[in-house]
Amino acid sequence: MVNFVIMRRYEDTYKQKGLRRQLVDSIRQKGITDENVLAAIGNIPRHFFLDTAFESIAYEDRAFPIGEGQTISQPYTVAYQSQLLEIKPYEKVLEIGTGSAYQACVLAELKANVFTIERQKKLFELVKQFQFKSKYPNLRFFYGDGYEGLSSYAPFDKILVTAAAPQIPEKLLQQLKIGGKMVIPVGGQDVQRMLRITKVSDTEFDQELFDNFTFVPMLAGKR
Ligand code: SAH
Repeated sequence: MVNFVIMRRYEDTYKQKGLRRQLVDSIRQKGITDENVLAAIGNIPRHFFLDTAFESIAYEDRAFPIGEGQTISQPYTVAYQSQLLEIKPYEKVLEIGTGSAYQACVLAELKANVFTIERQKKLFELVKQFQFKSKYPNLRFFYGDGYEGLSSYAPFDKILVTAAAPQIPEKLLQQLKIGGKMVIPVGGQDVQRMLRITKVSDTEFDQELFDNFTFVPMLAGKR
């Protein structure tokens, strides 16, 4: 296995701020309309979440590697999922797949109470050392299996899955409040359909279908 050192630079220059404004414009042009989501993308220095090797391209609307075969999602995808969640301040939101913590910080910017779970120890450890997170007292990190959810903090107003799920995890449905919503990409390895599930009662769920995306797979079982 290749052991690499992550280099970060926590300086937000005028150039980077300008590139970020352009990124927000391009996401808007691609169809994102939620102004709070666009403002959150505009407020968060995405290059802080990436190795300095990606510094000059951090504001391109692309996914990038973050180690352990994982990626930080494309900003458009982050905005798309965040918009579908219709976050209101102080809602309890569970995220599956912390990765770089970029999406979790977007949810925290939207003033949600965020609980995020990561399955891979190395990524979890990396995020624990990431100073930018201290900006958000409303953001908590957990090492665990997203298929299990986080029963000790359930129920949640919203659940966001940021890895490709072969099917909808039963325990996550259980941990949703009645009236709560889950956004999850469901499908095979190559492509997944974005679903929004609304919990109508303990046994009834509404399902809405959105666009196709490609996420890294949600890992099953113990590692
Ligand atoms: N939200 C992340 C990107 C997610 S990539 C960001 O903003 O950067 C998908 C992440 O899900 C990876 O970090 C992967 O390790 C994690 N993951 C995969 N299977 C998981 C599971 N069963 N439980 C929790 N996290 C999981």
